[in-house]
Amino acid sequence: MTDYLTKLFIDGTWQDAAAGETFPVLDPATGLEIARVADANADDMTRAIDGAEAAQPAWAALPALERSKIIRRAAEIARADIQRLAEVMTAEHGKPVAQSIGELNYGLDFLEWFAEEGRRTYGTTVPSTGPDKRITAIRQAAGVSVAITPWNFPSLQILRKLGAALAAGCSMVVKPAALTPISALEIGRFFAEAGLPAGVLQVVTSSKASRVSPTIMADSRVRVLSFTGSTEVGKILMREGAATMKRLSLELGGHAPFIVFDDADVDHALEQLVAVKMRNMGQTCVSANRIFVQRGIAPEFTRRLVERLSAMPIGLGSEEGVEVGPLIEDAAVQKVEAHVADAVASGASVATGGKRPTHESLANGHFYEPTVLTGVTDDMLVARDETFGPVAPIFEFDTEEEVVRRANNSPYGLAAYFFTRDVNRVVRVSEALQYGTVGANDGTISAVQAPFGGVKESGIGREGGHWGMEEYMDTKYISLAGLTRP
Ligand code: ADP
Repeated sequence: MTDYLTKLFIDGTWQDAAAGETFPVLDPATGLEIARVADANADDMTRAIDGAEAAQPAWAALPALERSKIIRRAAEIARADIQRLAEVMTAEHGKPVAQSIGELNYGLDFLEWFAEEGRRTYGTTVPSTGPDKRITAIRQAAGVSVAITPWNFPSLQILRKLGAALAAGCSMVVKPAALTPISALEIGRFFAEAGLPAGVLQVVTSSKASRVSPTIMADSRVRVLSFTGSTEVGKILMREGAATMKRLSLELGGHAPFIVFDDADVDHALEQLVAVKMRNMGQTCVSANRIFVQRGIAPEFTRRLVERLSAMPIGLGSEEGVEVGPLIEDAAVQKVEAHVADAVASGASVATGGKRPTHESLANGHFYEPTVLTGVTDDMLVARDETFGPVAPIFEFDTEEEVVRRANNSPYGLAAYFFTRDVNRVVRVSEALQYGTVGANDGTISAVQAPFGGVKESGIGREGGHWGMEEYMDTKYISLAGLTRP
């Protein structure tokens, strides 16, 4: 059996939870337990925050170049070990190993990018009001930060927060999702090996957020909370963060429209749709949830989509050639089933998929076939709630004005995609879509240097690029007065 990391990473050492408790980690492809991981409680979290507070000033005081070297070294160590790290991720998450490698590489790109950007956190001098004064604005690390992360990208969700925090001079306590804690612990391991000072990164695994979250939210030493997860929990954290006025960075739910106009390069749109729909088995907040296809091209587009999705190999993520792994847990499959059943009951048709695969070898895993629904309308569950699964519902539309209105008719505003060859329409629709991130003829929008994030109930703050650094830095205005000349 593989030797998985199972202990808390606190103050540079591997520790059991104070109360000695553990919780199981299951392989979603088989339902089998792969490890038991330390189950932190409030005392463990307080200890982690104590250590992060103690370590932060010296970390912030290091020259940016020294911080940069350690972050880059961590990325190098991880890249050298990427196959094993990917296999660990696939074991606890289920995604095909090729996707785990892709995720890790992308996460490590964030480390490298932020390592460099940390060297460019420039301040500003501003012309003053009188000759005896000088005005300076400097940027300083905000202090101790906490990351609460979801299971869909077990490494990436942490690395893009951690890279920015460390580069800015913050320490960080990571509370990973209970479903995928081991990939988070691996991050502790490669940073320790890279020489990160003890306490600057703490990884605290816990079976239930309620065991540790009240401690985080009540502690005034935690100055930044970066959370990725559901809108529902984001709202709770925003309320709880008010008590100590934490800076919040919230990446919440999405319900991305994917619009194909009849003048689009249809081959390209189809490629991009398959990529953005099926990545991570549809379990991403930027997944194409509402596929709007202009009426004239809808039958042909749907036929080709069905052809593509029905040919994708389903199986264990650890098997060569598999493109569709299991969903994270049975509750996720049940949600997908409920969405499909609701659509069918209201008149939609299943063009492919629409069920769990029947193959015996997949019987104990949380699998669901890639699915295309036609005849879908805006009142169905799939049109309103995040399905978070491999379901592609096709909505037909007639005009640009209509589709923009329908696309914007959502409390969410994370990502939107549209495809057209008309440059005037590119500008019009890009500007009209009420989304923080828009792909114009692009379904693969991820880039470390770009500001990723949402508007409306999809959250606040941006991850990536120099915007990502802002979340972890305060601007300090220094007014120097009383200057005299000889
Ligand atoms: P998802 O649907 O992606 O699981 P959640 O918002 O439920 O999204 O979970 C994302 C992260 O937030 C996980 O690490 C989870 O443990 C944590 N979490 C869930 N509920 C709370 C809460 N009330 N307070 C703090 N963290 C929470």
